[in-house]
Amino acid sequence: SYRSRSAFKLLEMDDKWHFLTPRDVNVVLDLGSAPGGWSQVVAQRLGWADTPGSATDEWDAANPLDISGFESAGGRRGRGTIVAVDLLRMDPIPGVQFVQADFLAPSTEGLLHALVPDIDSDGGAGEADVILCDMAGNSTGNTSHDIESSLAICTSVFEFTKRHMRAARSVGREMGGVLLIKHFRHPLIDAFRTEHLVPHFRDVRYLKPNASRTESREGYFLCRGWRG
Ligand code: SAM
Repeated sequence: SYRSRSAFKLLEMDDKWHFLTPRDVNVVLDLGSAPGGWSQVVAQRLGWADTPGSATDEWDAANPLDISGFESAGGRRGRGTIVAVDLLRMDPIPGVQFVQADFLAPSTEGLLHALVPDIDSDGGAGEADVILCDMAGNSTGNTSHDIESSLAICTSVFEFTKRHMRAARSVGREMGGVLLIKHFRHPLIDAFRTEHLVPHFRDVRYLKPNASRTESREGYFLCRGWRG
C-alpha cells in the first residue's frame, strides 16, 4: 500500500503528463520524500515494483489506500537511479537510495550528487532527468510565514535545478528535463514563477490534482523542457 495520500497526487499528475514513464528517464530526485509515497510511485514507474494501475482506478476502489504490488515485487530490478532526501527518516523502498538530511543545508548537495552517476555521454552539464519536490515546511497557520518558507524552498530547489538538471536537448526530447514543485499560491510565488521558471523551461503550468484538498493553497508547477 502507499505510505501517503500524496502518492495519489503524483499518480494523477503523471497519468496525465507522463513525465516519469519515458524510457529515457533515468535519474529521478525526490526532495522531501518521507514517508515515501512519491518514491513508491517513481519506483513503480521505473519498473522496480509492479504497477497497480492508474490514480483514477485507485480512487474508484472501495479502499483506495490498500494496493498490493510492492510486497509481491520481490527483488525485481528496475531501471535508472532514484534518490530521495528528507529531514525525517524513511523506511527503505527497493530501487530508492535515501539520504536523511536537510535539503536547505549546503552540505546536502554533495551527498545527493555523490549518489547520482554522471551518465552524460554528450558532455552536457547536469545529470537529473526529473526533479520532484513535495517539500513543505511545517504549516504554522500564519500565512506570511508559510509563504516565506515556500518561497525559500522554491528558490533553493531552483538553484539546485540550475546545477543538476540535464538539458532537454541532451535528453533527446523537447519536453525532457522536468521539475515538479509544490508551492503555496501567492503573488510572490507567482513572481518567482514568471522570473525564474518561465524563462528556463519550454512549458510551465500550474496543476492542482483532485487528490489535493481544494481549500488548501497548495499547488504544483509542472515545468518541462529545461533549456539549460
Ligand atoms: N511526497 C511525500 C510522500 O508522498 O510521502 C510527502 C512529503 S511531505 C508533504 C513533505 C516532507 O518535506 C516532509 O516529510 C518534511 O520532513 C520534508 N521537508 C521539509 N523541509 C525539508 C528540508 N529542509 N529538507 C528535507 N526535507 C524537508
